[in-house]
Amino acid sequence: MVFTGANSQPASDAAFLPDDRVAVLLPLPLAGPYDYVVGEGQRLAPGDFIRVPLANRRAVGVVWGAGSSDLAPEKCRRVIDRLKVPPLPEALRRLIDWVAAYTLTAPGAVLKMAMSVPAALEPPAPPPAGYVAADPQPEIKMTPARRRVLEVAPASHADFRADGNEAQAAPPLSAGELAREAGVGIGVIKGLVEAGGLKPVPLIRPAVPGPDWRRPGPALSDEQAAAAEALRRRIGGGFSVTLLDGVTGSGKTEVYFEAMARALGQGCQVLVLLPEIALSAQWLERFHRRFGGAPTQWHSDLGDAARRDGWRAVAEGAARVVVGARSALFLPYPDLGLIIVDEEHDASFKQEEGVIYHARDMAVVRARLSEIPVILASATPSLETQANVQAGRYAKLHLPNRHGGAIMPGIELVDLRRHLLPRQSWLSAPLVAAVEQTLAAGEQALLFLNRRGYAPLTLCRACGYRLQCPHCTAWLVEHRSAGKLQCHHCGYLSRLPEACPNCRAEDRFAPCGPGVERLAEEAAARFPDARLAVMASDTLTGPRAAAELVDRMARHEIDLLVGTQVVAKGHHFPLLTLVGVVDGDLGLAGGDLRAAERTFQLLSQVAGRAGRAAHPGRVLLQTCQPDAGVMAALASGDAERFYAAEAEDRRGAGMPPFGKLAALIVSGPDAAAVDAAAGELARLAPREPDIEVLGPAPAPLALLRGRHRRRLLLKAARRVPVQAVLRRWLSRMRVPAGVRIQVDIDPYSFV
Ligand code: ADP
Ligand code: ZN
Repeated sequence: MVFTGANSQPASDAAFLPDDRVAVLLPLPLAGPYDYVVGEGQRLAPGDFIRVPLANRRAVGVVWGAGSSDLAPEKCRRVIDRLKVPPLPEALRRLIDWVAAYTLTAPGAVLKMAMSVPAALEPPAPPPAGYVAADPQPEIKMTPARRRVLEVAPASHADFRADGNEAQAAPPLSAGELAREAGVGIGVIKGLVEAGGLKPVPLIRPAVPGPDWRRPGPALSDEQAAAAEALRRRIGGGFSVTLLDGVTGSGKTEVYFEAMARALGQGCQVLVLLPEIALSAQWLERFHRRFGGAPTQWHSDLGDAARRDGWRAVAEGAARVVVGARSALFLPYPDLGLIIVDEEHDASFKQEEGVIYHARDMAVVRARLSEIPVILASATPSLETQANVQAGRYAKLHLPNRHGGAIMPGIELVDLRRHLLPRQSWLSAPLVAAVEQTLAAGEQALLFLNRRGYAPLTLCRACGYRLQCPHCTAWLVEHRSAGKLQCHHCGYLSRLPEACPNCRAEDRFAPCGPGVERLAEEAAARFPDARLAVMASDTLTGPRAAAELVDRMARHEIDLLVGTQVVAKGHHFPLLTLVGVVDGDLGLAGGDLRAAERTFQLLSQVAGRAGRAAHPGRVLLQTCQPDAGVMAALASGDAERFYAAEAEDRRGAGMPPFGKLAALIVSGPDAAAVDAAAGELARLAPREPDIEVLGPAPAPLALLRGRHRRRLLLKAARRVPVQAVLRRWLSRMRVPAGVRIQVDIDPYSFV
């Protein structure tokens, strides 16, 4: 992704007066803005949120600029009114146009991401009702669900007051919050209110103190201090991109906190993008320790009220620091001064549905549009970012050492061709011995397997039939603890059938291969005295459960943790000294462009959990391919050589970041229609120098959510204006009804 400039916009102080024409962008997948006429007594400016008539309803849109159409004046409808919300900032409007043009999406579809909280545009409602447990409890019919609600409902003994005088009592919770905390439907809450088990009280929340940038940070090492100073100097100095490349445990967070303090001191807002924000309890805790306040969080686990308040607080400038997932990029910051993308290599920054965009890359665009600095932090930077450093587009700061003298753990390969695994077992003798040793020393161990559930495949021993998702080209994954089979692509759920759907044999199903649940079973049998826990995205019921588990691990209430990639990210467990990677080869299958790079990043991150404090760490990596370049690189710790070789391969193949790539996914419910459309698309493919079109080929997930899928790949030299080429190509194509063509610029997922 290379920044190429932005569309020009009228000056933001332009005013539109009654009878002027304005272009209004609506949060809908339309080709562009619609023209409206400014109403009597109105005075509008670009960015204003307004209500307009649309067909026979009303819609809220944003004034995008001066109107231009030649539509007869009487055909142009009038703006109804302006909403009392701060205008959408110019930089965000330009980002929306930029993202739309870059990803070949309708600008209105991008605007929709920035207007994801319609309630935030309405005038603030009176404080909503909160609920506390009634005291005394009336005689009511008790169900397990009701009991759970009453367990999490705050007690009513002391009235909670906003002035904090009786802050001992937990504040009331909204109905939505109660339902979420208790894991029940909203109906249960309503029923309990009607029965008198819950008592409504006004929901007044205490003011949360904001971050205080004046507080002193920790004493930094010389290395950290130098990096922090370099970052501080960029604040207020215009656009810049700096890669903060530091080994795991080097203190990158503490270092970028210093830049954040400077930006806050200059009165700017700061945005921090984190992958898996719901799992970032430790980050929040550290932020609190450093700044004595809380940032505004932004992610999909937030309730409606929090989203509404958060959006508003950002728009009004009250939110000084926002920490969030990729969608936080589209919040309406009026004075953003710094963006930090932590774990910038993480694949979850790429949004794969709806508007397909990469949040790291668009963060750089956002920064460019506002002339502010971006910090990209990672222990294992993406090849894209490294190429940008090498080309001199990004600066780089390096932290080669762990904080406090902790040493980087060595990675030892366990060659599974030599250490054969017994049947139905996934732990080799050397790994078992290492775990025993670690536990005996009173330290903690982590067994890492990046696969959720009990077994990735269930087959019938009588006929060999494999249980498959009816809507996807995918096996159903057994989740034994939940008693379910699940498709990891569409979420389809079923119970294990009693008889084989193919041969009718009963009780002949056998699980094949391990997921974390099954691995935990083996671990429990082998290490019966260890206190064991499983950590996977589906075993955690929400951010709170995740935070609790992380806490228990940090307090050493767990000896042996079995987990998927959710354990790899960011956690700091001082007593964790052994990491066992159970299947190092898992990510290498499939021939994905970035398979080796991702494996290197993920396994380095996991390995980086070991030995982060006083006790040195050890990592055992089980693999059947010890000679593969990525394994050798992990064992030798020679990241530079690995990246250099990877870069050479990609350069030779003309692949990103040395060439451009775009994917076209043709999909629909009817396989023949999809095939025909894909064939037609291939026939119309551009035949120009420096452009190569591959496919159509059935996507690896040839059937996904009931839609058949074919892929075409456009590969082009860097100088080719890919968007223009694609636009020309697609404009020649007549897309039949029922078929959809999705464009994925810079694809990361090849499923
Ligand atoms: P990274 O993000 O590079 O993996 P962290 O920022 O998580 O590293 O730092 C690792 C641990 O070391 C954290 O617990 C952090 O609080 C601590 N740490 C880092 N630098 C310092 C410092 N200068 N003073 C005190 N503690 C520090
Ligand atoms: Zn499915």
